Amino acid sequence: MEAQTSRPPLGMLFDRDGTLVTDVPYNGDPSLVSPLPGAKEVLAALRAAGIPTGVVSNQSGIARGLLTAGQVEAVNARVDQLLGPFDAWCICPHGPDDGCECRKPKPGMIFHAARQLDIAPWDLALVGDIGADVEAAAAAGCRSVLVPTAVTLPQEVADAPEVAADLRAAVLALFPEGTAVHHLLDAPVPAEARR
Ligand SMILES: [Mg+2]
Ligand SMILES: [Zn+2]
Repeated sequence: MEAQTSRPPLGMLFDRDGTLVTDVPYNGDPSLVSPLPGAKEVLAALRAAGIPTGVVSNQSGIARGLLTAGQVEAVNARVDQLLGPFDAWCICPHGPDDGCECRKPKPGMIFHAARQLDIAPWDLALVGDIGADVEAAAAAGCRSVLVPTAVTLPQEVADAPEVAADLRAAVLALFPEGTAVHHLLDAPVPAEARR
């Protein structure tokens, strides 16, 4: 457990699978993209408050030959259509044995997103669903909140500096009362924006 600053982040990064959308392993089919509860709502609030957003996603299916880069682009385009526009997109196409600097838990994609957003890593926060997300954030000097799913290991939950039940709670934890994001998420939202 590391102490984290309570200063609200200037930009927000999100893991894709299991965080923003349902985790369909090695998904190459845009029609299977399904936003997780709260995703639309929090991204709309962040955008309304002028907080830039980015996605950082391991896509080793490309290295494993299970997916083409084009399929990943098509799925990302669908995510962007449903939840975007995102200001930064970072994908790692490598496998665990490739020794790249971008595959989470390495921090490369966070540094890359930070450059794309022109925000220092320590002024960003990442929301993810597994330990690799939290570790990548810590290695980049970026704050993180873990939103566990069925695949999150108990040890990953125990090791995370911050844990939230869902995306909305994660973002509310990062943006304290008095911030525009907090206010927007506290306000009633139209039913169709809840998913
Ligand atoms: Mg994930
Ligand atoms: Zn990589």
